[in-house]
Amino acid sequence: MQEKGNIPSNHSTITPAQKGKTGLRRMVVLGAGESGVGAAILAQKQGFEVFVSDFGAIKESYQQELESLNIPFEAQQHTESLILNADEVIKSPGIPDKVEIIQKLNAKGIRIISEIEFAGRYSDAKMICITGSNGKSTTTMLTYHIMEQAGLNVGLAGNIGKSFARQVALESHEYYVLEISSFMLDNMYAFKADIAVLLNITPDHLDRYDYQMANYIKSKFRIVQNQTPKDHFIYCDDDPVIAEEMKHMNIKSQHHPFSIEHELSNGAYLKQNNLTIALTNTDQFDMTIKDLALQGKHNVYNSMASGIVAKVLDLRNESIRESMGNFKNIEHRLEHVANISGITFINDSKATNVNSTWYALESMNTDVVLIMGGVDKGNDYSMLLDLVRQKVKAIICLGKDNKAIHDAFEDEVEVMVNTFSAREAVEVAFHLAKKGSTVLLSPACASFDLFKNYEDRGNQFKAAVKEL
Ligand code: ADP
Repeated sequence: MQEKGNIPSNHSTITPAQKGKTGLRRMVVLGAGESGVGAAILAQKQGFEVFVSDFGAIKESYQQELESLNIPFEAQQHTESLILNADEVIKSPGIPDKVEIIQKLNAKGIRIISEIEFAGRYSDAKMICITGSNGKSTTTMLTYHIMEQAGLNVGLAGNIGKSFARQVALESHEYYVLEISSFMLDNMYAFKADIAVLLNITPDHLDRYDYQMANYIKSKFRIVQNQTPKDHFIYCDDDPVIAEEMKHMNIKSQHHPFSIEHELSNGAYLKQNNLTIALTNTDQFDMTIKDLALQGKHNVYNSMASGIVAKVLDLRNESIRESMGNFKNIEHRLEHVANISGITFINDSKATNVNSTWYALESMNTDVVLIMGGVDKGNDYSMLLDLVRQKVKAIICLGKDNKAIHDAFEDEVEVMVNTFSAREAVEVAFHLAKKGSTVLLSPACASFDLFKNYEDRGNQFKAAVKEL
């Protein structure tokens, strides 16, 4: 990997005035969540003068951690004189480029990197990096599970659990499985994935990409930047956006496509409910999809992607099969909550965009009362129309502003109701649902108008169901 353990060459011309009081290179960390605090710990360990700044509140536990390490920090403000003198800045992926402090850093030409870019400089581990609009967490967890069960020394990080930087500072792993969002990719430059996975590309987060799909696609394809012929690129061959982009790109790594629509070589495919992984340099893997722990079409894709990673690493077929069969799905993804009076309740709170709601509806075999809504990220609901017509009997909006949902569906479903809390939504849904049908929370929107985050939304939904 490039630049491991080195200071990047583009920072060789730092003037004394730019240095902090100590004369050490100054690293400013913006955003004091798990990734920021992890980055600060690693930066301190690597001998930087570190300063952490968060425009919002900092969790008590993180404040205590920073204090105990004597890492200076500020909350609820950005003091420019302490930030604009940085040699380099590590930015939390949650901070958009349009905020003032980022604009000022850019104007001064101060390099802004992601925590993954930073920590990657100090690790020689093999990096398995997973991105896509949907399925990242599921595929990351499944891949990690397969590798761990096979006895590899592997860390799990990225958008999930303990930060990558924290683990690089405090632990030692030979492999990392990293869930990588487009916001992280935007500030990754020299980092290289040994194995890159691109699950799908559908419109999401367009508010952060000037509402230009092309910008978002470009960001996702950064997952293969710096790859060489020794590296691997695993991608969905059925995804029209990926297929189109591949025509114009010259990706140097070994290609491993996967498809449920057609047979292909050096990748994975589905034939009569049998999942096959046929890579050129290793024995063939077969498994019936009935035995997969993760059910549903989208999860066949996710299982294929994880399975290819396992085969690239030359893990034993038997071990892969066992792990793909006994994996426990993560909360808030098509999670079965309860069956009450013949009505099934499913929590898919993690469906924060239209495509993931499409897959949730696609996998339903009953009539559905759909709870949806929240913060709309420039959604186009038209792709849901067919499935809504076929399966959805009522839509319960759960958001502050539900106009776009009403506009899209009011001529398609008989009943639409606005609600403003999970409890209200669940009570109305229970009232409207008939025996044998499903109440599905699959919002297609972000959650932060009425909830802290999607976990909070899912947990409140589950609590309300249990109170019925
Ligand atoms: P991410 O981390 O990319 O947000 P998750 O694994 O948390 O993805 O899943 C988010 C939502 O997307 C869930 O509602 C899930 O049912 C749906 N989903 C999972 N995998 C896929 C896929 N490959 N394609 C489309 N939707 C998917």
